[in-house]
Amino acid sequence: MAKLIALCDGHGMETAGKRTPLLPNGVVMRENEFNRRVVALLDVHLKRCGFRTLLVAQTDVDTPLRARTDAANAAKADLYLSVHANAFGAGGLNSVRGIETFHRLGSVEGAKAAVTLHRSLLGGTKLPNRGVKTADFHVLRETRMPAVLVECGFMTNVEEAALLRSEAYRVECAEELARGVCEYFGLPFVREAKTNPVEPAVKMDPKDANHIIDSFVRPSRADALKKGDQAGAAEAHRLANELRKASGQPTQ
Ligand SMILES: [Zn+2]
Repeated sequence: MAKLIALCDGHGMETAGKRTPLLPNGVVMRENEFNRRVVALLDVHLKRCGFRTLLVAQTDVDTPLRARTDAANAAKADLYLSVHANAFGAGGLNSVRGIETFHRLGSVEGAKAAVTLHRSLLGGTKLPNRGVKTADFHVLRETRMPAVLVECGFMTNVEEAALLRSEAYRVECAEELARGVCEYFGLPFVREAKTNPVEPAVKMDPKDANHIIDSFVRPSRADALKKGDQAGAAEAHRLANELRKASGQPTQ
């Protein structure tokens, strides 16, 4: 049976206080905008990598923490992962920065998962490493499986708030967390299949192309070379290769 990962997006969209201060560009980001996007992307990665997932808070409302952990416990999840953006201070912007990851005190597996996810999360964009820590948060304490809470950057730091608002950083965090989950369970991370552009259908028969090359292009190139017309010879060579490409043959 595939491992079941409980994914928690931290808070409701309108949960009081869970947002950036007013940023210099006049924008306020709610923490859940970041958390929810990362969870959605992570969900896709994990399913592709062969996991089952349980989104413990599917809606914009502030699903109570008890309901989140009850859902994970009832489903017998193998790992609980709660995705957050951090905040520091009394509500203004400040210089506190970095990534920190939490597990519950005494949970050997929780610590192992936290260390693995933390290392993976630090892999891309260089943010200060605030370390792996223990905490008595509800989602860590009340879960009956290894549980990890990641804080992916500070909403109260102007540079990190900009990162947290960017799709690129959300995409990066989701992939890093997915890689960390795979590593923790000893499974390979399965890359996204790149959609290969469809090969254009070959339009010209190679025999026709070679006939044109031999009967017309080659003699014209030989002619050009005889006259010392290097540009003409090069052009004939180029045209021959265009004909080879158009008929699906290697160039010369
Ligand atoms: Zn949070």
